[in-house]
Amino acid sequence: MERLTFSMPQLEPGWVWLTGAGPGDPGLLTLHALNGIRQADVIVHDALVGAETLAQAAPGCEIVYAGKRGGKPSPKQPDISARLVQLARDGKKVLRLKGGDPFVFGRGGEEALALVAAGIPFRVIPGISAGVGGLAHAGIPLTHRETNSAVTFITGHGAWGDIPDGIDWQALAAGSPVLVIYMAIKHLATIRQRLFDGGRHPDEAVAVVSKATLDDEAVLETTLGRCVEDVATSDIEPPAMVVVGEVVRLRAGLDWVGALGGRMLAADPLGTRTVRNTG
Ligand code: SAH
Repeated sequence: MERLTFSMPQLEPGWVWLTGAGPGDPGLLTLHALNGIRQADVIVHDALVGAETLAQAAPGCEIVYAGKRGGKPSPKQPDISARLVQLARDGKKVLRLKGGDPFVFGRGGEEALALVAAGIPFRVIPGISAGVGGLAHAGIPLTHRETNSAVTFITGHGAWGDIPDGIDWQALAAGSPVLVIYMAIKHLATIRQRLFDGGRHPDEAVAVVSKATLDDEAVLETTLGRCVEDVATSDIEPPAMVVVGEVVRLRAGLDWVGALGGRMLAADPLGTRTVRNTG
């Protein structure tokens, strides 16, 4: 692991590395992320970044929580950006660590633009987004030849807490075979209604994936017709994503984590393979 045959960049004083931490499992950090975590004087992280990941920091590294959950007062976005600017101006090696990918529903773009406005040099380190790697880990492919050639990423939670304006649900329902919805739980009933209004069928497969890639990952396999009620009676906890579409049915064959616990996997989960005529 440590014998890399290529060189990794130095995190210089006065710089900010805007870094994705991946979906949770520290093994899914990128090498660049780990390299930055080990060099940082200060790490400013959000609520999705776990203790095991932060434990990779050098001794003496200052760890600053700038998350928006947990009953603590939420730092405002401009305050976080201002803090990053100040830390960089103080000559610190600053790592801004965000769950998943910093530019996917993570306001990383806003923070980077604040650095640009302040003349702070920065690097962007992509991360594995929960809606990509988290779903693969949970045994749900985003695309599959027999089911879909397109997928849409959506946030179920807009800037004002309601479901976001400006999403054409009718068009999505008609045009996108697979929907991956971040932050969907709160407004799931409304989202479902919009998908029904757009013509989606109650029997369509839905998965709710909670704490993807972590030891307590949980996946609820349900349908569009039942998902709201099933979530209500389940012990699904945040963070969670909702996936709508036929790809969810592939999990009957691809749930490798479940297989470790004894789940029988189906080699033909969609039931589409032609039966060979042996007569
Ligand atoms: N930048 C992040 C997303 C931030 S928005 C990324 O690229 O993954 C926060 C939302 O992401 C959560 O509400 C949840 O919907 C989703 N999410 C993040 N990590 C998750 C995980 N480990 N399991 C399930 N959902 C997750």
